[in-house]
Formats: sequence, structure tokens, C-alpha cells
Amino acid sequence: MITGKSYIGFAQQSNGKTTYKTVNPKLNLENEWLFTEATAAEIDTAVALAWSAFKEYRNTNELDRAKFLNAIAEEIEALGDELVQVYCAESGLPEGRANGERNRTVFQLRSFAEMLQSDDWKQIAIDTALPERTPAPKPDLRRSVLPLGPVAVFGSSNFPLAYSTAGGDTASALAVGCPVVVKSHPMHSGTGELIAGAIVRAAQKTGMPEGVFSNLNSEGIEVGQQLVKHPKIKAVGFTGSIRGGRALLDLAAERLEPIPVFAEMGSINPVVITQKALEENGSKWAQTYAGSITLGTGQFCTNPGLILGIKSPELTAFSEELASKIVTIDPMVMLHPNIKSAYGILKSEVTNQSGVEVLSAPLEVEANFADQAVATVDGATFLSNPKLHTEVFGPFSIVVQCDDEAQLVEIIENLEGQLTGTILAENSDIPNLNTIVDEMRQRVGRLIFNGVPTGVEVCPSMNHGGPYPSSTDPRFTAVGTHSVRRWVRLISYQSMPEALLPNELKNG
Ligand code: NAP
Repeated sequence: MITGKSYIGFAQQSNGKTTYKTVNPKLNLENEWLFTEATAAEIDTAVALAWSAFKEYRNTNELDRAKFLNAIAEEIEALGDELVQVYCAESGLPEGRANGERNRTVFQLRSFAEMLQSDDWKQIAIDTALPERTPAPKPDLRRSVLPLGPVAVFGSSNFPLAYSTAGGDTASALAVGCPVVVKSHPMHSGTGELIAGAIVRAAQKTGMPEGVFSNLNSEGIEVGQQLVKHPKIKAVGFTGSIRGGRALLDLAAERLEPIPVFAEMGSINPVVITQKALEENGSKWAQTYAGSITLGTGQFCTNPGLILGIKSPELTAFSEELASKIVTIDPMVMLHPNIKSAYGILKSEVTNQSGVEVLSAPLEVEANFADQAVATVDGATFLSNPKLHTEVFGPFSIVVQCDDEAQLVEIIENLEGQLTGTILAENSDIPNLNTIVDEMRQRVGRLIFNGVPTGVEVCPSMNHGGPYPSSTDPRFTAVGTHSVRRWVRLISYQSMPEALLPNELKNG
């Protein structure tokens, strides 16, 4: 049952006066549940509890933390149909997607539990002493990692489960011994409360300290800002817009003790299509990309928003086919009225720029449904107008007609950092793709050959991140077990007695 209260440690509280409701975007109606925003005192208590829990939690063993993560997965599964119903009512996303995202969430939790069975994630290095070394003896040095401390997690609107309350950031931070305080997303606070309840029950059942997890309701940005400024918060995980991520990064940098902010943000995910690919498979790629651009109503950070090709009759035919295919797909509902209105505004801002031509036929859509669209522009105009490089969050893509390969490469070089880049080519193109691959990989976190960028596998070889502004730190991934590296720091022990070393560094 949804109460509308925050979880401050193990207790549910609602001492505040600010209340709000989530919206069912399909029905264009508010949902029944009334949520109360966390007060400044409640935020402070949640962080104080996290800090005191940290003293015990950081010293729990891997087996116990793995039990905790597995118990969270079990509790989430036990939420059954209620979770699916609330998820759908708050996001407009279909039941199949809710089930798929739940499976992904529990898979992530179990992957981190499995990771804890070995010490591989601890970045261990051992250099034993060389007392006879001249001119100076070498001391015994052993390196491992320590958890940073309580982490503030901000989930995104478009993944109410897998990138939210018990999503990758929370699971990875809990795995390595960091307590988590979640700033609940106001668009899916009911889903967040159900998941928070599952985490709290799992913590109680596995004997974890109170404060290891809290979930704060918030309608606006103040709760999150107070959280990031709190001196006992030691790192931030964020998934959302560039504007939001950047604001938190700046806030964290202004603190007396600046802290790392790992923000995964927006991207336009450039796709290069070669002349040969256009000639041999243009129609196939138009069909495939009409599907990828509209997948999840285009509300994915990996949505392909930019397609680059060299001006030719085949590129024109591809663009027109893409535009005609995309409007045959039934328009779908967006996550929230605000997301729909932002989509309309951003799409108009881009399509109203000089030199931009909309290729797709206009669509009549109901409230909160997206009118997918494809536009085109020439390479020189694209290069000279930064407005055309901005993310339009929704089912929209722009095809850029470049004069030649030199201009196409110049465009790639001048792109902001991206989560992904894709190359669509024929095998006979491969010997000539080195320059494009070299330039593209400088700008992206994941390079895809003959595929679509939408769909992010959860496995150790996945990198989900990229140069700024796709993320705030391109050295780390937000997906896969390597994402735990965001929440630990290195520590070296020099000449330490065996008894004082952590287990993983002891002899034998
Ligand atoms: P959002 O509007 O940035 O919101 C994310 C969270 O941050 C919300 O809880 C929001 O609170 C908070 N927030 C935003 N601005 C803030 C500020 N100035 N100070 C404090 N808190 C702030 O993003 P969204 O609409 O949820 O998600 C869509 C965006 O996320 C898209 O750009 C998409 O590309 C990106 N995304 C990226 C990834 C990735 O892995 N890289 C994955 C999914 C989505 P309020 O709602 O209360 O303002």
C-alpha cells in the first residue's frame, strides 16, 4: 500500500506541508496517492542515520552484503502485480516494459551480489618489501579500496526501476559498503515508495544497520540540493538531464569539501551511414531506425538523434523513407505532461532554425502523446549552429547531408561528448573506416557497428558513459559491475602488521 511518506531509515515519516501527486499520462489525470515532500529536518535525520550506519556497514563482510542485495531482489519480485500497476499508472509505459525493467533491476542486484564472491573489484596490488634494496630498502606496500561513505542517488524519469530507487547506482553503492539516500523522482514517487519498502524490509531481514537506505520524497529540486550540500554525503549518482546533472556538479564543487558527482546525462548519439550502406541496405536501415527512434517514445538516453551521411540521391531516398516509415508507427504516450511539453518546445526550436526542413508528415496526437518526426539539414548549417546539436528528448532525429567525408569528419570532431556512436557500413567499407572510427571514439563511450544504439546490455564489458556532457566523468561506467569503481577510493598500507591489514591483503 502506498502511504505517500518518505522512508527515513526504517521509519516512514511525513512531517512536511508540501504535498503533490503523480500523473497518469495516458489518462491525463492525477493518480490517487498524495505524497509529502521531505522536510529539512527529515533530510538531516536520513543523512545522520546513513552516517552512523556507515561505521557498521563499511565493515560488513561481502557475504552479508550479497545476502542483502539478493534479499532486495526477492522483495522486489514479491511486490508482484501492485508494482506493475503503479509503474504503468505513473509512467504510461506498457506492462511488458514494466516486467522487463523489473527483471533487469533484479538481475543487476544479483550481478553485484555475485561480484562480491571474488576480490576482483578491489583493485588489489601487493609489493612485498625488499629490505636489501640499495640505495634505500623498499617497504612492504599493499593496495585495496575503501567505500567513500553515504551516497545521494537521483533516479531518472524514464527508467522508474532500473535507473531509479533500486537501480544501478543504488545497487553498486550498497554492494561496496556505501549507505544510500535516494531523492525520489517526483514523476514516479509511488513506484519509488514500493521499491524503498522492499529495500528496507530486505535490510531488516538481513540485519543491516538502520540508515543503510532512506528514500526522500520531493516535488521540486530543493530536497536534492540540500542532500548534495550535506557535509556527510560523500558522493552523488545522478541520471537525468544535462541541466540537472550540471547544476548538481556545480553545487558539489562549491562545497567546503567538494565531492564527486557521477552524472549520466543526455546525448544525441550520432549515427554515420556510408554511401555503400545507403546503396545496398538503405531501405532496411530506414525501417530499423524508424523503430529505434520511436522505441520507448524516443525517451532513451541512447536514442539516435543525429544521422550523418554524404549528400547523394541515395541519402535523400533514405531520409524520405525514414520520414514516411516513422509516421506509420502509432504515436505513443510520453512519461509526463512536462516531458511532452518540453519535447514540443525543443523540437520546434530545432525545426524552426534556418535551413532545417521537416521531412515527415505532421501527426495529430492526443494530449501527452508524441508526434514523432524526422528533419534534415546540410552539413555547413549543422556545423555553424550549436542549437542543432542539442538533445530533443523524444522520438525525433535529424539527418545531416554532408558535402563530403572531410565535412562529415569535421562534424564528428565538433560534437559534444556522447554516450554512443554508430557506424552503418558494408564489409567493403571496412578498410576505409579508420578515420571515422578514430574520430568517433574520441567523442563517444560506446561504438556500435551495424546496429542501433538503443538497448544497453548489463555485463562487465559494457561502458555506459562518455565524454562531457554525456557524463561528468568519462573514466567510469554507470552500467555493469565496473560501475562500483565510482563509490570507492584507493588506499595503500605501508609496512602494516599482518593483524591490521584487511583480509584481502593478508598473506595467504
Ligand atoms: P531531470 O529533469 O534532470 O531529473 C532528474 C532528477 O534530477 C529529478 O529528480 C529532478 O528533480 C532532479 N533535478 C533536476 N534538476 C535539478 C537541479 N537543478 N537541482 C537538483 N535536482 C535536480 O531528468 P529526467 O527528465 O528525469 O530524465 C530525462 C533525461 O535523462 C534525458 O535528458 C535523458 O537523456 C537523460 N537520461 C540519461 C541516462 C543515462 O544513463 N545517461 C539514462 C536515462 C535518462 P525534479 O524533477 O524535482 O526537478
